[in-house]
Amino acid sequence: MAKYCLECNTKLNLFKFPVKFKDGSVCNSCAKKYDFPGVSEITIEMQINAKSVTWEHYKSHPELIKEWKQEAQERKAEIEARKEEARLAKEEKNRLRCPKCGSTNIQVLGKQKKGFSASKAVGGALLTGGVGTLAGFAGKDGKKVEFVCMSCGRKFKK
Ligand SMILES: [Zn+2]
Ligand SMILES: [Zn+2]
Repeated sequence: MAKYCLECNTKLNLFKFPVKFKDGSVCNSCAKKYDFPGVSEITIEMQINAKSVTWEHYKSHPELIKEWKQEAQERKAEIEARKEEARLAKEEKNRLRCPKCGSTNIQVLGKQKKGFSASKAVGGALLTGGVGTLAGFAGKDGKKVEFVCMSCGRKFKK
């Protein structure tokens, strides 16, 4: 059985991107006239919300779509925040750590001048900042790089 838009009565098909309401469907262009978002912005939650009210109810309650959009935005922000969290966790995991004391205050040993001694560097202001993640060293020539821990002086290769 063919469905027709509750608002404009045109025959609905997939290309009209019908939005389902409790009492039937509305083509996306009619839904948009009442602030319903365009195809690319409709979320699953919005579709579920729409299905819980009739088209007439939706039309007479313009605050509904504002709430739904707000919800969608909050959800999006939540997902973004979780992604960022995961990214930071991964970064933290990839950080170069001293195998002895776990410090991330690591320097590349190979780049130091002759006579450099780890014990001198430790506690000194000779070097600033750590080397960060291993990513910057990996895959250049396949050779292992020698590092030194600025906290305990332990040398190690990665
Ligand atoms: Zn329509
Ligand atoms: Zn250490």
